[in-house]
Amino acid sequence: MTATATAGWTVQAYRFALDPAPAQARALASHAGAARRAFNVMLAAVKANLDQRAAERSYGLDGDALTPSLNWSAYGLRREWNIRKHTVAPWWRENSKEAYAAGCANLGAALGNWSASKKGSRKGPRAGFPRFKAKHRDTPSVTFTTGAIRVEPDRRHVRLPVIGTVKTHESTRKLARRMEAGTARITTATIRFERGRWFVSFVAHVQRAAGRPAHVPAEAPVIGVDLGVRDLIVAATLDGAEIARRPAPPQLRRAQRRVRALQRKAARQHGPYDPAAKSWREPSHGWVKTQQLIRREHTRIANLRTDHLHKTTTRLAQRHQVIGVETLAPGNMARRGGRRKRGLNRALANASLGTLTRLLGYKAGWYGCRLVAADRFFPSSKTCSRCGAVKTKLPLSERTFACGQCGLVLDRDRNAAINLARHALAATTGGSGPLVTGGADGKTRHRPGGQPPGPDPARGVETGTRAGDAPCAAGGTATPKGAAA
Ligand SMILES: [Zn+2]
Repeated sequence: MTATATAGWTVQAYRFALDPAPAQARALASHAGAARRAFNVMLAAVKANLDQRAAERSYGLDGDALTPSLNWSAYGLRREWNIRKHTVAPWWRENSKEAYAAGCANLGAALGNWSASKKGSRKGPRAGFPRFKAKHRDTPSVTFTTGAIRVEPDRRHVRLPVIGTVKTHESTRKLARRMEAGTARITTATIRFERGRWFVSFVAHVQRAAGRPAHVPAEAPVIGVDLGVRDLIVAATLDGAEIARRPAPPQLRRAQRRVRALQRKAARQHGPYDPAAKSWREPSHGWVKTQQLIRREHTRIANLRTDHLHKTTTRLAQRHQVIGVETLAPGNMARRGGRRKRGLNRALANASLGTLTRLLGYKAGWYGCRLVAADRFFPSSKTCSRCGAVKTKLPLSERTFACGQCGLVLDRDRNAAINLARHALAATTGGSGPLVTGGADGKTRHRPGGQPPGPDPARGVETGTRAGDAPCAAGGTATPKGAAA
């Protein structure tokens, strides 16, 4: 989502699970298939065009003598598709033209990324040449940008072009209220088939009262937040008081136990690999059924974690003025700050640190608090929060921090949280340090007085609006890969 919002408006996504009727589910799948078809047909055309030009060059042709290259823009590809559709997709009238346009737009973007990556003008990991989309491999999805896209006033249905009115699994009130008040405008609707069901994500321009007064308890304007191994989130104030310890919800632990049990069960069943013959075979129905249960349990785990992180981050962003967090080293997911997380918890902890920072990032903008991300070399766990002595080594198995200098003995995660709070305070008062506020567009504003009294000298609260974030579509991607380990 690259759309930029006008002043006072932010871009936000609202995602709802759908309960389509069987015919509607077929129509949704048909539209996703149509987008895939347009993508693949045009990719083949682009490849043929590139090959043709390469062959002509090898014969010594050049310049105008070559076959003209195809226009790779979304519009150019769409024009070409409209010429070809009668032969390659004679059924094209069955689906909204938006589906084909979406396929062409995706291909245009993928080709653009590839060529920018090749030229070196694109940041991030290298983008490869687009490959053909396959029904069994790629998530079926399609984006609608025009036509009848809306949330019905009954808050239980959404309207999509050609597909019609589809029942939602949950109430759409969060978006519907804003539509009724005129503080939201839907720009696109994307349908996706994920984890066995259809979802719709609306991208909307939303008018938000940026930085509305937070419910700040006077005693804790500045806090540090650390992710624990056993407890998901540990928050502490400057003077060391622990204000929140959010353990993994019990239903999450139960779901994790169930996954492990199911995986042991699957290992005893007749799976697709025959260890005796060292070859592949047809798995038993029982094994396939167990795999379905494992997938369902993983979905539940992901949903529980997302829910937990959302509730916790909202609470923190609403109640405190400055929050210090760790930074996840990019491209170094398995290891962070010298802390190595093993087994099931490692993947989970790293996934949630990324999500935590991201959620706090935009919620800080919403609720007018300030997020300070510590440098990734900041020794938050290894520093003594009383005397400042830094340990050279602290194995993860040591759950308590014992200082060799002053004799402080403290819970490890709490010690780290205190250090992060101090770091955040220093960064906000000293004006140095990497600062992450909710403002992606760098827009800052000082709120006039009326702040609750507190020891925090950094009274000026930076607020901002964040464009291009999707709070609802976020976070549900934590796949506990270490579950089998
Ligand atoms: Zn000490």
